[in-house]
Amino acid sequence: MWLLGNSINDLNEIVLNVGLRRFVGAQLADWIYKKNVTSYEQMTNIGPKISGLISGAGYEIGGFEPSKELKAIDGTRKLLFQTLGGGLIESVYIPDGDRATLCVSSQSGCKMGCKFCMTGASGFGCNLTSGEIIGQILRCGNAEKLTNVVMMGMGEPLDNIDEVLKSIEIMTSPWGLAWSPTRITLSTVGVLKNIERFLNETKVNLAISLHNPFPEERKTLVPSENINPIYKVINILKRYDFSGQRRLSFEYTMFEGWNDSDRHLSELSSLLGQLDCRVNLIRFHNDGNSPLKGTDDRRIKYFNTELNNRGIHTTTRTSRGEDILAACGMLANRK
Ligand code: SF4
Repeated sequence: MWLLGNSINDLNEIVLNVGLRRFVGAQLADWIYKKNVTSYEQMTNIGPKISGLISGAGYEIGGFEPSKELKAIDGTRKLLFQTLGGGLIESVYIPDGDRATLCVSSQSGCKMGCKFCMTGASGFGCNLTSGEIIGQILRCGNAEKLTNVVMMGMGEPLDNIDEVLKSIEIMTSPWGLAWSPTRITLSTVGVLKNIERFLNETKVNLAISLHNPFPEERKTLVPSENINPIYKVINILKRYDFSGQRRLSFEYTMFEGWNDSDRHLSELSSLLGQLDCRVNLIRFHNDGNSPLKGTDDRRIKYFNTELNNRGIHTTTRTSRGEDILAACGMLANRK
């Protein structure tokens, strides 16, 4: 069993159960999350007798090292990890001047089956534990340089809500990584049964994978629309305040002839017009196996300008790591 991935309450309980004083739980949290150690020997204020009691109860520090790493021309690194259950997951480290973002996975594979996504095409493997989610951050090789984490890798985070919330608690608590929630963004297709829990229990930014403002069209590429209609998701979002530090954004991957017409532009602006939000336009990355074609840059620029003119703050996401299949929608464990 891993200590990594446990909250302070869990760690306290673990040490109390082996007859130790509660403060040892806080010491463990400090070594594991703040000092990022990988062995009991590195914990200089925890002697072998104490660590022997904890390891004797079956606990190791936990965490995994990447089993493979690919580096793109632009410096983006794709990391492959093996989960405790034997599944494979990928994380993407994206350096950008004095900033660096890690795109982490929350599941091995995904059940949502979005038609443009290589993870969706590979089916579902397993949910990740909070330790496996935090482990991607601590073992990415440059944890101390990270400025942002986006839960946009493999999997639908709200389909693994308990472990995802626990990992967010570890990232944002003073005893954990002590990050501001504004440095973290969770991306979802909009899972109705869990979205309010996420919004109520965290202050983390939210990104909704929209891709088409018309429900009948959206469901052809985002099958989750059948059980999680976007209009219901938006009705929930209208009850929350996104005018302060917490950001709400909508991701819109652009496909030629499918969602890039003036009709889509008008519907998109009326759908999102009442929300305090922004739109991220995303270029489609075709791995060569998809019949879908991405919208050209000129049209993306037009969309970007028009949405801004209509009062919706819009940006176009820069593609990173395409040459190593690390860009949006391309994670699929192709070893
Ligand atoms: S886009 Fe996200 S939710 Fe959809 S299949 Fe891919 S990983 Fe799953």
